[in-house]
Amino acid sequence: MTAFNFSTVPHLVSAPGAAADLGQHVATRFPAVRRAMLVTDPGFLKTGLVAAPAASLEKAGMLVHVYSDVQADPPEAVVLRAVDFARDHAIDVVIGLGGGSSMDVAKLIAVLAGSGQPLAEAYGIGNVKGERLPLVQVPTTAGTGSEVTNIAIVTTGETTKMGVVAPQLYADLAILDAELTLGLPPMVTAATGIDAMVHAIEAYTSKHKKNPMSDLLARQALTLLSNNLLLACENGSNLAARQAMLLGAYFAGQAFSNAPVAAVHALAYPIGGIFHVPHGLSNSLVLPHVLRFNLTHAAAHYAELAAIVAPQAQGSEEARAEALVVAMQHIAGRTGIDTTLRQVGIKESDLDRLADDAMLQTRLLGNNPRDVSRADARAIYAAAF
Ligand SMILES: [Zn+2]
Repeated sequence: MTAFNFSTVPHLVSAPGAAADLGQHVATRFPAVRRAMLVTDPGFLKTGLVAAPAASLEKAGMLVHVYSDVQADPPEAVVLRAVDFARDHAIDVVIGLGGGSSMDVAKLIAVLAGSGQPLAEAYGIGNVKGERLPLVQVPTTAGTGSEVTNIAIVTTGETTKMGVVAPQLYADLAILDAELTLGLPPMVTAATGIDAMVHAIEAYTSKHKKNPMSDLLARQALTLLSNNLLLACENGSNLAARQAMLLGAYFAGQAFSNAPVAAVHALAYPIGGIFHVPHGLSNSLVLPHVLRFNLTHAAAHYAELAAIVAPQAQGSEEARAEALVVAMQHIAGRTGIDTTLRQVGIKESDLDRLADDAMLQTRLLGNNPRDVSRADARAIYAAAF
């Protein structure tokens, strides 16, 4: 058996309503903390769902600062302001309460406010120095898995992003509470849920770091996600389906944090970066076309996953692998989200720029089971057009 490393968040609470007990969970683990920073975005603040977790922190004896200035794809200036806020208010516990952007900003506050290290010196892999503040993550979408990954993405220019990857970014505690996700519109539920499925599929075929733990988690993630995605889209108040989606996205996050994602994400990033298409939808748009491209090199693994996502599939390994692609297309079609680049406003004349930008994602492309040339990327975008 291949030697491997596996890292993850040490403690998980998965229960509808758990966010209302946030203060209790924090106080049990960190009895000395007194000044909490709840990191969220203006949209989630407006739902009113911040009130109960904030009140529970106060009840546990903490002074609570609700910081709601996070923007999607957080620009560097937003991160720096949040870190300054934490330093100015001597924050001693950071809680991400939101989607991937809020949780990513929470990670950076926890590592930078505690140590004094400048953000510019933290970019890259393994460059975080010093101790971080206690960090708790509470996702409000079932998709990114950011509550359980060791990476934070920052927008550094008009279309450029940089990542901070370090073991210190793993939180101390993650809380999965589906009551926070009940208000998500069907299209957001669909796109974020398909993103989570992509995390599981790409982890399962990750070229260098695929391992028995990530395989186990990817398979269980796909079981939960494929059984519950359409239920959660069709009836947003289905609490059991929502909780299963959160847990599926969490497992997928654990998988891809250790066996990284590949060409689907590499080709999705330029769609988000240039055209501001949300991350989940960007992935969903290119997913079937990348999977089909990979069939010659990943048929055995795709056939194994087809047994989960398309259990009725029969026949040869190739036929069952193809059934996985068809099943993923079918799921996207059933939810009603956009399925072509044209639908999100991309023109045929944009495909060359997309292909050029995708080739810059060398870290992700290197994880793909099949090498992707610039001509391959262009052809995949043309198929998705
Ligand atoms: Zn993703």
